Amino acid sequence: MAIERTLSIIKPDAVKKNVIGQIYSRFENARLKIIAARMVCLSCADAEKFYLLHKDQPFFRDLVKFMASDPVMVQVLEGERAVSKNRELMGATDPKKAEKGTIRADFAVSIDCNAIHGSDSLKTAAVEIAFFFPQIDVYSQSVVASGNI
Ligand code: ADP
Ligand code: MG
Repeated sequence: MAIERTLSIIKPDAVKKNVIGQIYSRFENARLKIIAARMVCLSCADAEKFYLLHKDQPFFRDLVKFMASDPVMVQVLEGERAVSKNRELMGATDPKKAEKGTIRADFAVSIDCNAIHGSDSLKTAAVEIAFFFPQIDVYSQSVVASGNI
């Protein structure tokens, strides 16, 4: 099976709750490798750019404000079926509808403070990884092998 890479963001609510380590354990237990990570304070302009796809949604302004409200932890996950596996670990967008044992069911309180972001397709993953880690070659492991991240 193909090895994929996907972008994950632990959102401000989960960073504040001090559960970065617990969420990282879930990635590791699911055989997803954290191959790059950085803690970032997003500006509103950064958050707007990242979520541009949602700019016409009624929740867009609140989403941008929330993402820029406190630090977020951003990581690239690598492994078999990384994109869909990460989405399974995350659970549904609305934590109230998320399956028991998923990150959102366990750590999130509401649809607007829902603990975690994950790319929804390989194509989106490539764009989102480049947004935060422009130096990583999304499709090649040679960068990782050389330690040049
Ligand atoms: P996901 O994060 O599961 O991929 P979307 O891409 O649809 O979900 O939405 C991006 C983010 O926008 C969600 O994670 C959530 O924080 C916020 N959001 C989505 N739908 C709503 C909504 N109906 N009300 C408030 N916030 C929302
Ligand atoms: Mg999405």
